Amino acid sequence: MLTKSSTELVRQQNSSLVLSALRRGGPLAHTDLSVLTGLSSATVSAITADLERVGILERLEQKPPTGRGRPRVLFSQRRDSGYIIVVRISSDTVQYSLADYSGTLMDRFEEARGTSSGAGSAAASDPKAFCAAVVAALDRLAQRSRLERRQVVAVSISSKGLVDRDAARLIWSPIFGTAEIDFAALLAGAGWDATVVLSNETLLVAQALMAAAGRGAETPPALAALSLGHSIGLGIARQGRGGETEASAPNFGHMLHTPDAGLCRCGARGCVEAAAGFYGILRKAFQVPSDTIPAKFVPLAEMDKIAVSARQQNRMAGYAFREAGAALGHGLARLISLYGAMPIHVTGLGLRYFDLMHQSMEEALALSHAVRIGGMPAIHVVQDEPGLVFSGHLELALQVVDASILSARL
Ligand SMILES: [Zn+2]
Repeated sequence: MLTKSSTELVRQQNSSLVLSALRRGGPLAHTDLSVLTGLSSATVSAITADLERVGILERLEQKPPTGRGRPRVLFSQRRDSGYIIVVRISSDTVQYSLADYSGTLMDRFEEARGTSSGAGSAAASDPKAFCAAVVAALDRLAQRSRLERRQVVAVSISSKGLVDRDAARLIWSPIFGTAEIDFAALLAGAGWDATVVLSNETLLVAQALMAAAGRGAETPPALAALSLGHSIGLGIARQGRGGETEASAPNFGHMLHTPDAGLCRCGARGCVEAAAGFYGILRKAFQVPSDTIPAKFVPLAEMDKIAVSARQQNRMAGYAFREAGAALGHGLARLISLYGAMPIHVTGLGLRYFDLMHQSMEEALALSHAVRIGGMPAIHVVQDEPGLVFSGHLELALQVVDASILSARL
């Protein structure tokens, strides 16, 4: 019995290797699959036959260019094997996307969530109203593509803040504060059978960056993604022993920077975010007392104005951005002291002001023992945060879909 179950486990693992190779480079011929997965030719034949039989794979026959000889057989996923829905919760909008089993985007729409600076601010942070809106939007997304709920195998949700990934529960978020949202219970209660995956948004960025690096020549053992904006997010991705990616999102934005950084919107004092989040920068630039309860949402136009004046040598505006950079640098120095050196990928809405923060961030990093010994970590600027978040969603959700389909059908 033990032998049989371990054989099945290996078969499922090998099948997911084939499926993920197809997702990255498909459609693929038998020999390419063998090279990309490292599986023997016989194993690849057995797996593709199995996956074709249960309806997950399909084969395409390509005529040889000369018109003579045997046709080339290419394998690809059957795109209708299962669908995933991706929900990205941002400070002012919620984006809903539908993708098929090959990871191809089929439909997408956004709904304004309202902001504390605009009308309807009470509803904007009311978890009940938000949950009702999510349930309605999921149904709308499925109906627009004429899908039944049961055809959606995974719903992958992301937010800033602290999440309990195993239970798909949002524990603390910049939007809803300590009002917890149990997404697994919410969707089960609304009649969805799909597996619900909840992730911190910057964790997904780190996950996607590692997946992209995994296809390059030199894959780092670990990397960090730092997201700048209204709040400060951090994700770490590390290579596991079996080559799998282990991603985590430590509570970096609300780690103590220095008590005089002032009141944070989480209720604590002196967090990294209280100095480096948009509201922290705004508060410092206008010399507002640091115990002022921070605005939940700062219009980007307001931040742009402060940046323009900082670039025109306005003393307080420049200082506010430099202090933000220093808070980030001290935080990263602590990260490196605890986790070891790793490249840092800076992304997010706040990247547009990174020119004003970069130098003080490096200066703060350079003060630490870890950096004096190990050298300055490589700092990369990564522009396409939304694209990376979506790739991270697909990466995780399609793993769930593979596992679910394989265990149900093989
Ligand atoms: Zn905080």
